Amino acid sequence: MVYLQKPWLKIYDPRIDEHVSIKHRSLYDFLQGAVNLYNDKPAFTFYGRVWSFKDTLAVTDQFAAGLYKDGFQKGDRFAIMLPNSPHYIFSLFGIFRLGGIAVQVNPMYVEREIEHVLTDSGSQYIVVLDALYNKVKKVQPKTSLKKIIVVSLGGDRAALAEGDQYFDEFLHENIIIPEVHIDREDDVALLQYTGGTTGPSKGVMLTHLNLLANFNQVCDFAYKTCEKPEDFKMITVLPMFHVYGLSSTALCGIREGANQIILPRFDPKEVMETVKREKPFQMSGVPTMYFALNSQPGLEDCGFDQLYYVSCGGAPLPVESAKLFEKRTGVKLLDGYGLSESAPTAIFSPPFVPRKYGSVGIPVQSTIAKIVLQKDGGYIDAPIGVEGELVIKGPQVMKGYWNRPEDTKETIKDGWLFTGDIAKMDEEGYFYIVDRKKDMIIASGYNVYPSEIEDVLYQHEAVEEALVIGVPDSYRGETVKAFIKLKGGFSATEEEIILFGRENLAPYKAPKEVEIRSELPKSSVGKLLRRVLRDQELLKVKAY
Ligand code: AMP
Repeated sequence: MVYLQKPWLKIYDPRIDEHVSIKHRSLYDFLQGAVNLYNDKPAFTFYGRVWSFKDTLAVTDQFAAGLYKDGFQKGDRFAIMLPNSPHYIFSLFGIFRLGGIAVQVNPMYVEREIEHVLTDSGSQYIVVLDALYNKVKKVQPKTSLKKIIVVSLGGDRAALAEGDQYFDEFLHENIIIPEVHIDREDDVALLQYTGGTTGPSKGVMLTHLNLLANFNQVCDFAYKTCEKPEDFKMITVLPMFHVYGLSSTALCGIREGANQIILPRFDPKEVMETVKREKPFQMSGVPTMYFALNSQPGLEDCGFDQLYYVSCGGAPLPVESAKLFEKRTGVKLLDGYGLSESAPTAIFSPPFVPRKYGSVGIPVQSTIAKIVLQKDGGYIDAPIGVEGELVIKGPQVMKGYWNRPEDTKETIKDGWLFTGDIAKMDEEGYFYIVDRKKDMIIASGYNVYPSEIEDVLYQHEAVEEALVIGVPDSYRGETVKAFIKLKGGFSATEEEIILFGRENLAPYKAPKEVEIRSELPKSSVGKLLRRVLRDQELLKVKAY
C-alpha cells in the first residue's frame, strides 16, 4: 500500500493483526487492570466529589453484587439512561462483570423512543436519573422491564413503586460472585442504538473485543508520542450514552489513568471555566461545541493552549472553524472519523503526523480503510483521489445489528463495514470525508455534497451554523437550500447569504433558497441534523 512508504507511518502497521495492545480478557478485567496500576489516584471528579480508581472498582463490585443477588444472568440486557456521572461507569462495569449487555438509552428520548429501545433490546432492568423515573414508569407496562434503579444526586427522594430501588439501596457487599467466563470476541457488551433515518433505530452489537480494541487504538494513536503529566486531567463532556463519549473518551481516560472532570452537559462558559480552573491535558468534542466556543468572548484567555490537543469527531468540521479555534486558543484541534458500527473510531489525526486541514487523518492501528466504487454488481477499489464509498476492516467493527441479520448482511460484506459515507484518500493515505451517501443532492444531474456548500457558508463572517439539504425543484429536479444560524452580534439577510453562495460556488451548487433561523436542529450529542429539516420540507411539499 502506498501510504506504508511514509516514514511517520512506520510507527504502526495497518494490517489486521495483534499490533494493537489488547491484553485484557474482558472489559471488567480491563477495569481491574487499571485499578492495579492507578489505585488511589483520582479517576472521576463530579461537582467537587472525587472517586479514586479503587473507589470506582469498589462501587462497581457492589453494583454487580446487587445484580447477582437479583438473579441477573450472563446475556441479560440492562439499559442505562443517565447523563454523564460516575454512576454511569459503576453501572456499566457492574453489568460487564456479570457478562450482561448494557443498552445505551439517550436521556432526552421521548416515551415512544424509550419504548422502542427497551422492547427491541428486551431489557429487564434500567438505571435512570430520578427526574426521568416517571417517564420510564409510564412506558414500563409495554416493555419487559422488571426493575427500575434510580440515581438521585441530591434533594428530596420521592417514594418509588414496589420493586424499584434507589441506586445506593441496590448496592450489596459481602456476596461472593462466581467468575463469569467472557469470550471477548463473541460476547456482546454494549447495544448502541443508531440510525432511524430509514425505519426504526437499530442496536449495534459491540463485543468486549470491539471496545477493548477501539479505545486502545485511539489511546495508542493519541498518547504514543507524548509525555503525560503526572496529574493527567481530562474534561469528559461528550455524553457517555453515545459510544464516542463512552469509548473514545471515558474508557480512554480510564486506560490512561486520567482524572476525568465530568460535566453532565455542554455549556461553553462552563467548559471555559473548567479549563481555566483544572488545567486539563485533553478534551474531546463534536463540531457544534467548537462553533459555540468560537462565539465566546474571552476564549483566548482561558488557557486552552495548555492542553496537549483537543479532538473532534462525529460530524464534519469545517476548516474555517478549526482554524479560527486554533488561532484563538493556540491548541491543536484534531479531527477523527467513526461511527457507532466501529465502536466508534476508524480514522484519526494523531499528533505525530503532519497536519492536513480538511482531512480526518489516517486509519488507526490494525485498521484498513479504503474507497470502493460500484461496478458490474460488485465493487472495485477506487484510484487515489477518487470519491467513492468508505469501507473499513478492523477489530473494532461491530458483530452486527441486534436481531437484524438482513441489515447486518447489507452493511458488512466480506468483513468490510460499508459506512454509507462518501470519501477519498490522497497519495499519502490521508482520508477526506465528502458526505453521507444518502445526503447527496442531485441538482441538474450533478452530484452536490451538502458539506462542501456548508464549508463555504461557514466562511461568511456572520454564520455560526449552517445546514444544507436538497429540496424539490421543477427545473433542476432538486436544488440546494441552506438553513443558517447567525453569530450573536452579527447580522446578514437571506439575500446576502444567497449572493455570497453565488460568488463562491458553481451555479448548480449555490443555494437557491436560504432560511435564517434562531436555532438549527441538533442531536443530543450536538450533531446538526439535516434529516429533521428534510422531514420538515417534505411535510410542506405534502401539505401543498
Ligand atoms: P454515529 O453512528 O451516530 O456516530 O454517526 C456516524 C456518522 O457521523 C458517520 O457515518 C459520518 O457520516 C458522520 N461522521 C463521523 N465523524 C465524522 C467526521 N469527522 N467528518 C464528517 N462526518 C463524520
